[in-house]
Amino acid sequence: MPEPIGISNLPNQRYKIVSREGATFTLMVAGESGLGKSTFINTLFESDLIYPESNATRHKAPLQKTVGIDITRAELREKNFTIRLNVIDTPGFGDNVSNNNSWQPIIEFLDEQHNLYLRQEQQPTRASKKDLRAHACLYFIRPTGHTLKPLDVEVMKKLGTRVNLIPVIAKADTLSPNEMLEFKSRIRSIIEAQDIRIYSPPLELEDQAAAEHAKQLIESMPFAVIGSEDSIEVSPGNIVRGRQYPWGIVEVENDQHCDFRKLRSLLLRTNMLDLILSTEELHYESYRALKLQSDENGKAETSDLKRTANPKFLEEENALKLYFTGQVKAEEQRFRQWEQNIVTEKNRLNHDLEGLQSEIRKLEENIRVLSIKKGVK
Ligand code: GDP
Repeated sequence: MPEPIGISNLPNQRYKIVSREGATFTLMVAGESGLGKSTFINTLFESDLIYPESNATRHKAPLQKTVGIDITRAELREKNFTIRLNVIDTPGFGDNVSNNNSWQPIIEFLDEQHNLYLRQEQQPTRASKKDLRAHACLYFIRPTGHTLKPLDVEVMKKLGTRVNLIPVIAKADTLSPNEMLEFKSRIRSIIEAQDIRIYSPPLELEDQAAAEHAKQLIESMPFAVIGSEDSIEVSPGNIVRGRQYPWGIVEVENDQHCDFRKLRSLLLRTNMLDLILSTEELHYESYRALKLQSDENGKAETSDLKRTANPKFLEEENALKLYFTGQVKAEEQRFRQWEQNIVTEKNRLNHDLEGLQSEIRKLEENIRVLSIKKGVK
């Protein structure tokens, strides 16, 4: 039996009560192509959202205008509380020869939704607003077991300033438990060193059990996930969602195999309201303040038309573009150098290790010779 979705508990998640008409929750997935983003969404839907008690309905509607961005909508009802759920699947990137700006449409989409909402807020009538601001973005990381790519760092930095960013390691079944632990810890240190802003569940909760749960969620980041659309019978009558291999079965909803249940809990049970409110209070407010300020500055200086016609502004703009491109390149260079240093250090340690091993072999040989001599005596 699946656990209840828990949306009827939403109003209790924080002191603020969301409207009786329910709430909208928008989840975005991003990352390279082929990492299992679409499969994950389907797994989430199949595992949880579509079952009789929830009265969930789902339909897929291509979004006009934005190229390659798909939105899936579902309406969930539980104890008279309704959640309108939007899941945004973005085009994968990273498979082009040149990946420069391949992630740009995703960033533009996020900004555009903030902008649309802001414009609606500025209207005199307060009709119900169209709102596709993403409350969380799952960023899929390739399970290389090594490190994050410079492209991942660049994109995650940009996402983190716009949306509640939740990094996930894709296809967790392709790494051993030890490899996964090491990979997670390496990613966590890169996130810290590169100052990438990721979502962190609030810990200051009155309820002890909830605080402990939040701590576990933080410790599990980045969440390792497995997606699958297959149901497998593991024992008579016991059907699970998972992936079957000649050596065994990996189960999506088994905490020993991956963090799918933890991530689902964060998104749909324990932290949905916090994700919604922090989007409003942090990300939307920052966008709003910046946008209004830049509009004011724009008005004070000159009209947009004059700006583009004036070669002085064009020159300044080009200089700025050049400066920022230089900054990104320098950052990339710094990151590569850092990666290179790790490789050099690893090689040095391997070399030392080989030296020590040969030393041990020599000592063993001496012991052997000595014990033979002792035996002869
Ligand atoms: P997307 O391009 O990121 O949307 O990736 P897809 O969802 O289309 O998946 C790409 C391929 O990866 C498909 O063949 C999936 O069956 C496979 N896949 C998805 N999730 C997993 C997973 O957790 N583990 C493994 N081993 N393969 C997966």
